[in-house]
Amino acid sequence: MSTAEINTGRQTVEPTSPSQRDAPEQASPASSPLAVLSRPRTTEHQQVKWIYAGVVLGFHLLLPLAFFPYFFSWYGILCLPLGNYIFCTMGIGAGYHRLLTHRGYQCPSWLEYTFSLLGLCCIQDTPARWVAVHRVHHNNSDEQPDPHSPLVTFFWGHMGWLFVENAEFGKLATFEKYTRDLMRQPFYRWLERRYNWLWILIGHAVLITGLGALYGALRYGDTPTILQCAGQWFLWGVVARVIYTWHITWGVNSLAHMYGYRNYETLDNSRNNWLIGLATNGEGWHNNHHADPRSAVHGHQWWEIDLTYRSLWLLEKCGLVWNIIKPRSNNKLQIVPPVEGEETWKLS
Ligand SMILES: [Zn+2]
Ligand SMILES: [Zn+2]
Repeated sequence: MSTAEINTGRQTVEPTSPSQRDAPEQASPASSPLAVLSRPRTTEHQQVKWIYAGVVLGFHLLLPLAFFPYFFSWYGILCLPLGNYIFCTMGIGAGYHRLLTHRGYQCPSWLEYTFSLLGLCCIQDTPARWVAVHRVHHNNSDEQPDPHSPLVTFFWGHMGWLFVENAEFGKLATFEKYTRDLMRQPFYRWLERRYNWLWILIGHAVLITGLGALYGALRYGDTPTILQCAGQWFLWGVVARVIYTWHITWGVNSLAHMYGYRNYETLDNSRNNWLIGLATNGEGWHNNHHADPRSAVHGHQWWEIDLTYRSLWLLEKCGLVWNIIKPRSNNKLQIVPPVEGEETWKLS
């Protein structure tokens, strides 16, 4: 399996002590949420991504329907944490992020591709594009080339950046530089080709809706109830679940770069954010992650619950995951300084 390693330009940093954490922070270019940053130059004079904006708006307009008595279901609400765990925690957190982007552990190809497909069903772009954006983020965190720093505005960091074309990601050279390890694999090339990713997205929505209809048929049998169950499963299993996982994942880019505590004085504005940490099952311990990006363990303190890592730990016990990268010494963490143009990702 190919690897992507952070291995140049390291700078040793000391963790902050609890007393240091409570003290007012030193002024630094990115230490204040009030710092002003310009949008990446590569987004200037670019077109609005109307189709994606339309999908996001359309989903949000459909959401109130889920709360109409005809479609409302307490089981639907319970499905949110379950759907979040299956599709977002294992697909985006364990798959797209800790495995594909940072190669924080190893697993069989079939499991990697399963995680990738689950991540795809969160409608957060294809694996190659997500990984490219996130690697550029790590290379330039809270500096102008960062695709989604909330130091521009909170809205930009949370979701605004998604709706504007970024010329950086329209260039083949970007993908050759940042995702060569993925694009060498036929599976990821196939996903990018001829909208294959779109058919998978549509297929998963049809499957969930169909399972709702099947449930209605087996339990009640009459056509109106079958249609009602199909609608419930679509609204809760697809629409509400996708919206929920959108906002908690986007919250890593926005809230966890603005609000929360810092264990490490990284050169960006990353924070450990309780709300996002718990909602994403570990991705919100984002300051820890920026201090030690390759580690597949994001919770560095005993209270920083990291269900994503615990799931990987369990899979390791079953022999399905191995070589999980643990945090480096708590006393000498190394970080990558965000120096523009530096070749940080070494792709073998
Ligand atoms: Zn970040
Ligand atoms: Zn990362």
